[in-house]
Amino acid sequence: MTQINYIDVPYTFITVDVEDWFHILNTNIPPCDQWDELPSIVEEGIHKILDLLDENNSKATFFVLGWIAEKHPLLIKEIDRRGHEIGCHGYYHEELNKLNDEEISTDILKSKTLLEQIIGKEVIGYRAPGFSSEDYLHLIDILSEIGFSYDASVFPAKRETGGNSQFTSHPFSIESKDKKFYEFPISVYKNKFFRMPIGGGFSRITPLFVQKHLINQTKKKNDNYFMFYFHPREMIGDHPRLHNLKINKYIKTYIGVRNFYKKVREIIKIDKSRTISEVVYNYEGRLN
Ligand SMILES: [Zn+2]
Repeated sequence: MTQINYIDVPYTFITVDVEDWFHILNTNIPPCDQWDELPSIVEEGIHKILDLLDENNSKATFFVLGWIAEKHPLLIKEIDRRGHEIGCHGYYHEELNKLNDEEISTDILKSKTLLEQIIGKEVIGYRAPGFSSEDYLHLIDILSEIGFSYDASVFPAKRETGGNSQFTSHPFSIESKDKKFYEFPISVYKNKFFRMPIGGGFSRITPLFVQKHLINQTKKKNDNYFMFYFHPREMIGDHPRLHNLKINKYIKTYIGVRNFYKKVREIIKIDKSRTISEVVYNYEGRLN
């Protein structure tokens, strides 16, 4: 059994999964050869996020889909130029549970290579589409082999795709493929009865004052570690909708979207965020 070493990471991380409004898992979205013809909200959403981060002098990590980077290379350069980190979110936003190891590696490597060409820097972090891994330690081995230094795909609560409510929500390091690898899980609020993830749709349904309370409690219990995530589409209340979703999926996907921009603006103000790579480079004694 591989040894997990818990690490002290007393920081706030704002993270963004950079994809478009139609990159919704577990539903019938248009096939990828038709994506080019669809309207796009990713540029508008990202610029709103970049401005919010500037307002608070915060730096964030953007896990970018390779397909988006290929279509919007200047946007990716802009995120990097403004001092944020570019991480990898795969190429086609496919659910990892539905791919074999070779398909996973091919998709991820295609995206990593493209992102590095665009920004001229090494991309060291990864997040799985929809946090869709069943076996995080195996995913870590795949990522380490490809050349990543950290992962941020652990979702320590129940969800439709992936998620593991038994898994730790504390950051850790681990030996994988003869080198040190780091894991930064999504923050979850825990009590005796349930675990509630903080970020994405879960934050959209929670009133701001409750959300702030959950964040403060979670930070206290986790030595000030806090990992938050959201998407560009959630910054644009009236973005195009997928209309063929089942009713419960439709509600989950769009509930609270209209007010989420204002909520994120307040959440970003709670604490100054930094990039995950800055922390990893510090641990490794490497210069960014
Ligand atoms: Zn995603």
